[in-house]
Amino acid sequence: MKIIMLGAPGAGKGTQAKMIADKYGIPHVSTGDIFRANIKNGTPLGMEAKKYMDQGLLVPDELTVKILLDRVAKEDCSCGYVLDGFPRTIPQAEVLDNALKEINDKIDFAINVDVPDENIIKRMGGRRACLNCGATYHVEYIPPKTEGICDACGRELVLRDDDKPETVGSRLDVYHKQTQPLIDFYNAKGILKTVDGTAGMKEVFAAINAVLG
Ligand code: AMP
Repeated sequence: MKIIMLGAPGAGKGTQAKMIADKYGIPHVSTGDIFRANIKNGTPLGMEAKKYMDQGLLVPDELTVKILLDRVAKEDCSCGYVLDGFPRTIPQAEVLDNALKEINDKIDFAINVDVPDENIIKRMGGRRACLNCGATYHVEYIPPKTEGICDACGRELVLRDDDKPETVGSRLDVYHKQTQPLIDFYNAKGILKTVDGTAGMKEVFAAINAVLG
């Protein structure tokens, strides 16, 4: 099964993507995580991506598409995957579509986790991330067992630079201009499923499961 998660930054698509990946035993592929791992390791790709990420801008398509296509070509993706944060532009979606067509394949579902901007702004300020293992939490909705400490690896949790209030506004603008058109794109293909992302994490997951059948 090949699934794309759509939704504004902070809509909870990453959390849902991980839950879907666990349930179906398929990889959770997050371009944001791949970029962050590269930043952490100080690679040239990471240094380039950081320039855009810190400003709440999208990393250029050429760079993003290449890392995504390399990732999904790996053996562990042969039975499917959940894409989280890709595609974020129409050209990215077209490249993915064409790459899949070449191997007689296609995306099965594009799940749109729908959350209004007001809720997003409130959520992002409470989000905390572990820069070591990539786990994410929310001070109110998904708190770690010990405040400020990652349940999975015990490192300190931080408010990511790109979740800081000054960056959230520009990320939402970028989302509406560049990513939201993907909703019509996948709707036209008949694979778009929209779920109400304002409900609790478990309710949203139940709605997604109903969609996936
Ligand atoms: P995320 O963790 O998905 O919210 O991504 C964090 C940041 O990484 C985004 O704000 C972008 O700067 C960059 N990024 C992640 N995925 C993409 C993508 N598909 N296209 C361009 N930039 C991306």
